[in-house]
Formats: sequence, structure tokens, C-alpha cells
Amino acid sequence: MRTERPDGKLAEHALHRRDAKREGAVRGGKGREVALRGIPIAPGIAIGPLYDTAEIPPETPRRTIPAEAVEAERARLVDAVALSRKQLGKLKTKLALLPDEAQHELAPLLEAYVMMLGNSRLLRGARKRIEGERLAAETAVLDESEAIAAAILAAKDDDKAGLYRRATEIREIARRLMRNLTATPFRSLKDVPEGSILVAEALTPADAALLDPARIAGVATEEGGADGHTAIMLRALGIPSVLGCAGLCHDAARGVQAVLDGTEGTVVLWPGDKALERGREALAAFARERAKLSKLRRLPAVTTDGEVVELQANLEIPAELPLIAQAGAHGIGLLRTEFLFMNREDLPDEEAQLAAYAQIVDAMGEDPVTIRVLDWGGEKDMEAQNSGIAPTHGGPNPALGLRGLRLLLKRPELLEAQFAAILRVAERGNVRILLPLVTNPAEVKQAREILERMARRLRRRGEKLPERLPELGVMIETPGAALAADAIALEADFFAIGSNDLTMYTLAVDRAEAEVNHLYDPLHPAVLRLMQFATEAALRLRMPVSVCGEMAGNPKLVPLLLGLGIRSFSMNAGAIPRVKQAVRALDIGDCARFARRVMEQSDPARIRELVAAFAEGVAARA
Ligand code: PEP
Ligand code: MG
Repeated sequence: MRTERPDGKLAEHALHRRDAKREGAVRGGKGREVALRGIPIAPGIAIGPLYDTAEIPPETPRRTIPAEAVEAERARLVDAVALSRKQLGKLKTKLALLPDEAQHELAPLLEAYVMMLGNSRLLRGARKRIEGERLAAETAVLDESEAIAAAILAAKDDDKAGLYRRATEIREIARRLMRNLTATPFRSLKDVPEGSILVAEALTPADAALLDPARIAGVATEEGGADGHTAIMLRALGIPSVLGCAGLCHDAARGVQAVLDGTEGTVVLWPGDKALERGREALAAFARERAKLSKLRRLPAVTTDGEVVELQANLEIPAELPLIAQAGAHGIGLLRTEFLFMNREDLPDEEAQLAAYAQIVDAMGEDPVTIRVLDWGGEKDMEAQNSGIAPTHGGPNPALGLRGLRLLLKRPELLEAQFAAILRVAERGNVRILLPLVTNPAEVKQAREILERMARRLRRRGEKLPERLPELGVMIETPGAALAADAIALEADFFAIGSNDLTMYTLAVDRAEAEVNHLYDPLHPAVLRLMQFATEAALRLRMPVSVCGEMAGNPKLVPLLLGLGIRSFSMNAGAIPRVKQAVRALDIGDCARFARRVMEQSDPARIRELVAAFAEGVAARA
């Protein structure tokens, strides 16, 4: 649907908007609340009006191209068509979750969209414009769709509503193509009214990085998984969030009141008096608990039998620094540097990186800062605009393609610039370096050689570097790395277990995919055995080992991880107080006995029961 806004700009509605409005009139209203369930992502309660971001049109600058770029432009269009088809395919699989009436209306619409991505007038016309008028693919798609829509609307036909609908459909599919061509975070998230709950079909990590937690009360999306990077970003920002909420876009419409519970994973639309009352009570209870937990800030993370546990923060964007200070973190255990590369069209150079790291290292004083080099690829590059760090969308299977360290070793100039900036900032504080997605000891060796070469080069350049180079650690986040941990340990100075990717790769379950979220299980015995194997390999060599995946921030899992021998945890800053509370109620001997019991189990459901029961006991003591 495309409507004229008061400011004269065109606003388009997302695929489901028409149905949301129509259904809203039927399903919403007093006494007709709609309760939806999704994946609980970030705790907290939000009560407010919904704000559907899909309505904002992309601001696509018009571009022409030189003759020699025509081929590449045609290829971009082919890629965008493939991606659009994939997205529509995903939406199709979700139809079954919707009420019959909505299914009947949406199914033919999706079919129509898919047809328009075949040998359609739209695509033929767009290709012609690329070749004949030398237009960039997005400009060609825009011009062609507008020309077709204008022709449809000018047709002599009494069914004006039908003409309008067809013109809208053309514009809608063109919009999807343009969004995919420009790969821009296509929502203007700056304008989200204060206190509203943001609703979207999907939110990329790059989109999430632009959210202002002071303005946005909550986030709910149809897509997304428990430990995807969007989820991690939302947790980092402390915005109550529910992802993977099927049927949300169908029912949601801008301005509709809602109660979102990020702890339970529920969204209630058009809440009745009772639901509103419950929401308000939960909000007050959450605030009380926060106040209670904040008192733990200055207390040490020590078990009842005197074992000191290191609790560090993960950092996604510098805006989190004040939260890290408030949380009482002992340094940064995982600085994800992807934020430097997101939402921009060029690469940050050595100086720009140095300035960003310096701000963080200075803020942390003497506390350690573990900087992970760029972990691009997989879900992270899907829609984040960038200057072509990696090939488009990482190949046919991005999670297994050119990502993490393997990408950096193929593009050593990226790694050199980043190492140079890190080496220079190491002079200012307590810095360590972490390598992502390692599968092979040789990769670590190669990275170390580059690090040492950069250090020599910088010294020749007259830069002041610390006498001892920063320690070089390895993320253990693939089954291959976990099972070869003893060999990799010989090349590494420390391990950080990335339980998010380790779970994904072990179970072959996409961590960011709502459809398979029920199979994403860090407590699966296969994942736990790999973690145990890697931890023991490190401990045998007396090498530091931490967990920095989302498991580390779950107080219910802390006893098990302590029992496996982990003494260092890095998590989103908001989780530190609860984890500290759990640590202070635990005895290491009990944890070790509990871990032994868990590791004897082969059924994930039984492990979950044991973990829940142990956690209840801990909560009662805390
Ligand atoms: C992990 O995989 O567990 C991890 C910490 O890295 P990321 O979430 O950034 O992939
Ligand atoms: Mg990872």
C-alpha cells in the first residue's frame, strides 16, 4: 500500500499492512486482545504504542554508471533478485502460522511477488535501463516500477481499486529489490517516537546498532533467533525485546497499544485492563529487582568457598561503555569490532580504528580489554552496508564461507591495519587480541606472523609499542577447533569459548533463524562435551580459558560452567549483576559434582531439568 503523507513524501506499507489494518479492526479493540509468543531476548517490560518501521521509504540517491560497469550492475540485479526470492520463500513458510483468512489473502500476493521476480516486465525494463540509460540497478528498478505503476493507474478501467492494488504490488516488489540492492539499513530509526515499541519483519545487527535505548521502549520482530547478533545487540543495549514472534506483522499496526515482556517472550496487542495491570506490575517488579542488583556492584564475585571468578563485559558499540562501568565489570572480555565496519561505505583506516580503540582502552583504565579482530561474514554481513569487505553475501553458504579469521587471512591488508591499530593502542592499557572462527592451528600461526611483522614495521616507523606484544587468543567456536583444542592451544595464549557459534555449528542450527530456534540448544550434550574437551585442554597447559558466548550471561548456567572448570565469564553488561549474585551463592565443590552429573546425561531435556532444578536451589539461597 502506498499513501501520500502530509509532508508530501510517499510512504509504503509492508507486505502485511493491509491485513493488519483490516484485521486490527476485527481482532483489536476492547476485550479483544491478541497475545503473541516469541523468543525472550532481552529482559524487561515495555508498555506503549507500536511503531512499524517498514513504512519508511528508502532514500535511494539516483546513480548513473560508466559503460564498463554495465555487466557488474546486471550481476547486482541478479543477486538482489535471488535474495528477494529467498526472503519471500521465508515469508511463505510462515504463512501456515497465520489464521486461515490471512493465509488466503496473503498466499496469492506472495505468488504475485515471486512472479514479478521471474521474467517480468519490471525486470526486463530494469535491465534495459541499466544497459541503455546506464542507470545503477536500484535507479533502474525505481524508474521502471514507477513507469509501470503510472501506466497501470492511467488505464481506462472502472475497477479503480484493482488498478491501485496492482500498482501498489509493483511498487512493493521494487522496494524490496531496492532495499536489497542498496543493502542499507532501510529504516530511519532516528524518528521512532519516544516510548514506542519498534516492530519489524526483521532487524539486522546493523539496524539494531542504530537504536537509541533512551527512546525505544521495546523491540519485537517476526524473524531472528535467540543468540543471533541482532539479539546480542539488543541485550547489549538493554532494550526489552522479543524476536521470532510469528504473526506479529500480521496483527501489528502503527499506534496500536501493546505490552511486551522481554523476560517471558510475549507481546500482547490491544491489551485489556487485566493485561495492562499485569504489565504495570511486572514493570515495577523489574525496576525493584534492578535497584536490588545494583547494590552488588561493589561486591566481589567470589564463591562461598572463596574461589574468585572473573566477570567481564562484552562490548558491541562504544555507547555501552557507561553501562559497563555501572555493571562493575572487570574489563572487557570480548570487544566485537564489527561496529567499526557497519553502516558505512568505506573501510575504517588504522587511524580511525586507533581512535575508536583508544576511547575504549582509556575508559577501562588498568582493566583488561580483549579486542577481537573483525569477525565479518555469516549473518553479520547479510544486510550491513559496506565497501565490499567480502564477496556478496559470503557465497552459497555464508556461515561456512569466507568469514572470521579465514577472511582476514585472505585479505591481509584488513588484518594488518587492525593489528597496527591494536598494537599502537596496547601501549595505553592492558590489551589482548582475539582471533575469531579459527579451525586450524596453522591459521593462528599465520596470524601471529602477521602480528609480529606489523610490530616490526611499526617500530621501524617510530611508533611506541609495549615491549611484550599483546597476548594472542583464539575463539573456540567450531567443533573442529574444540576437538583440536590441544593442538591449537600450543599456538595460542588463551582461549575464549564462543558458545553461540559452537552451538550453531555443532547442531547445524542457524543461531539467528526463528524457524529452527527450538533446536538451538547450548545444553545439548554434544555442545557441552566439546566445551569440556576444550576447557580441559587449556587447563592442562594452565592456559586461561573463558566463555564469552551468551551462555556466560545466563545465571542458571553458571554452576555448570564453574563445575567444568571455567573461572572467567564475559557477557552483556546488563547480565553481570545477576551472574554475580549466582556466583556468590555457589560452592565450587557442589558445582563440580553437579557438572559431573550433567555430563553423564545423554538427553538434552534431562540436562535442562537438572540445570533448572539446581538453579532453583541457588536462587533460593541468593
Ligand atoms: C560466539 O560465537 O559465541 C561469540 C561470542 O562470537 P559472536 O557471537 O560474535 O559470533
Ligand atoms: Mg562467534
